[in-house]
Amino acid sequence: MDCIFCKIIRGEIPVYKVYEDDDSVAFLDANPVNPGHTLVLPKKHFANFEEAPEDALLATMKTVKKVGRSLKDNLGILGYNVYENNDPIAGQVVHHLHFHVIPRQVGDGLKLWHQGKYNHGEGQAILNKIKIN
Ligand code: 5GP
Ligand code: ZN
Repeated sequence: MDCIFCKIIRGEIPVYKVYEDDDSVAFLDANPVNPGHTLVLPKKHFANFEEAPEDALLATMKTVKKVGRSLKDNLGILGYNVYENNDPIAGQVVHHLHFHVIPRQVGDGLKLWHQGKYNHGEGQAILNKIKIN
């Protein structure tokens, strides 16, 4: 399997490992947005969020929570973002599901997204398409 994160999990590429258990691993992103930017992923290869079964997601999110706790306890930060880029259009480059846990600092310049407004009727039209019954 030619997946860079699978290679990391097999120990073929060195990383700064923050945490690991039977089902998930956390290591520093090689190109941090802020110091402590950590990637959390299931050890089994799933290309993206919807391909991962619930037990793998649960194990991975438990690790996200542990990492967030450690960042807050040890980096003197007040908060962090959890991101998951799902599919190339959303910025996913490595196709092994992973969550970014990014510590936030005052004035770090990290911009989230711009937000718009729904015109009259647009909210209802979207809802009609995506509502889950
Ligand atoms: P994506 O855009 O797929 O959500 O993010 C992939 C992330 O993996 C990027 O932030 C990138 O810096 C990180 N990354 C890619 N290759 C390596 C690597 O070999 N080692 C580490 N530690 N991080 C990597
Ligand atoms: Zn993989």
